[in-house]
Amino acid sequence: MTSSARPILNRRLAEFGTTIFAEMSALAATTGSINLGQGFPDTDGPEEIREAAVRALRDGRGNQYPPGPGVPELRTAIAAHQQRRYGLTYDPDTEVLVTAGATEAIAASLLALVEPGDEVVALEPYYDSYAACVAMAGGRRVPVTLRPHDGAFRLDLDELRAAVTDRTRLLLINTPHNPTGTVLTREELSAIAELAVERDLLVVTDEVYEHLVFDDAVHVPLATLPGMRERTVTISSAGKTYSYTGWKVGWVTAPPALVTAVRAAKQFLTYVSAGPFQYAVAEALNLPEDYFTALREDLRAKRDLLAAGLEKAGFAVFRPAGTYFITADIRPLGESDGFAFCRSLPERAGVVAIPNAVFYDHREEGAPFVRFAFCKRHQTLREAAERLAGLRHG
Ligand SMILES: *Cc1c(COP(=O)(O)O)cnc(C)c1O
Repeated sequence: MTSSARPILNRRLAEFGTTIFAEMSALAATTGSINLGQGFPDTDGPEEIREAAVRALRDGRGNQYPPGPGVPELRTAIAAHQQRRYGLTYDPDTEVLVTAGATEAIAASLLALVEPGDEVVALEPYYDSYAACVAMAGGRRVPVTLRPHDGAFRLDLDELRAAVTDRTRLLLINTPHNPTGTVLTREELSAIAELAVERDLLVVTDEVYEHLVFDDAVHVPLATLPGMRERTVTISSAGKTYSYTGWKVGWVTAPPALVTAVRAAKQFLTYVSAGPFQYAVAEALNLPEDYFTALREDLRAKRDLLAAGLEKAGFAVFRPAGTYFITADIRPLGESDGFAFCRSLPERAGVVAIPNAVFYDHREEGAPFVRFAFCKRHQTLREAAERLAGLRHG
C-alpha cells in the first residue's frame, strides 16, 4: 500500500471492481448450488478438435510465437467460413486478424479506433467488457436500451438515431445478443446500417453467438448489408461455437485499413495468440454442417427444458432466439430487485443466476431481470428446474 491519498486503481477503471461472476461463483461453491451464472459449457466440444490441438502441440506447430496476424491455416479457414456462410469475401492476408478470444478483439478494436472523448453507442444491456474497454480507450459510452416488447428485448430505432451525435465515433453492436437472447432482425440491422452510412460511423459487431440461433431466427452479419463491409469490424470466436471457452481463439474480419489499426493495438496487448489452438480451430471451422446443426439442436432442447422449468417456477421468461442465456423477469414472483434476488437464490433454491442490472448503465432498467445459462448437461438443468420449483412455495 502507498500512504498517499491517491487511489491505487486509476480513474478510468475505478468503477469496474471485481465482477459479479466472481461473487456469484464463490456463493455457488459455499452453498453447493448449481451455477447457471457464468456462461461456459459443462461438457467439452468435439473430441476430434481436441485431438487436433494435441497433434499440433506434439508436432511442434505453434509452440513458438506464431505469425502476428495468426497462422495462415486459420486465417484461410476464417475467410472461407465467411465466404461459404455469408457470401462475404475477405483476403486472409490483409483482412483477417486472429486474437486472444473475442475479448481481445473487442479491446484492441476500441483501443485502436476510439480517441479520448469520442462517443461509443452500444446496446444496453451489454457484455461487461464493453464498458471497461470504452473506458480504457478514454471514450464515452452512450447506451441505447433494449426493452421488452412482445416477449423479446427489442431495439428502439428512434432512440438509436437520437443517441448519435457529432462526437459519435462508432456503434458497438452485439447479435445474437448476450444477455437477452435477442437476434436482431434484418429490418433492425438495415436501420443500423443506414444510420452508420448516413453519419459515416464505424461499426464494431460482436457476433460470437453467430451459430447459436434457434427456431426460425437467422443470424445476419452486419457486414453483409449495403455500405457496411467497408466500415465494419466483425468479431467472432471459437469459444462459444465449439464449446472450448478456455482456448481463447477469436478473430476480426474487416477491410485492410481497419485490420491494420486493430492489429496495431493487438500487437502490444498479447503480441500473438496461443499457437497450437489456432491449428485446431482451423479444423473446427471446416467441420461439416452436421456439427452446427447438432449443436443448435442440443442447445434448443436445453433452452426449452430450462424455460419450462423457469415458467413453472413462476418467472416470466423471454425465450431466447439465440445465445445460451435466458433472461427472466422476477416480478411475477413478487420480487423487483434482481441483485437481492440473486444473492438470496442460492440459499433459497440452490441455484445461481446473474442479475441483469450489472449489464446496464441505467441499473433501474435492468433491475427486475436475471440471467440463467443453459449450456449445461440436461441432468443439471432438470435438477435446477426442480430446485427452482420450490420458489413458489418457499
Ligand atoms: C463470451 C463472450 C465474449 C468473449 O469471447 P471470448 O472468445 O471468450 O473472449 C465476447 N462477447 C460476448 C457477447 C460474449 O458472450
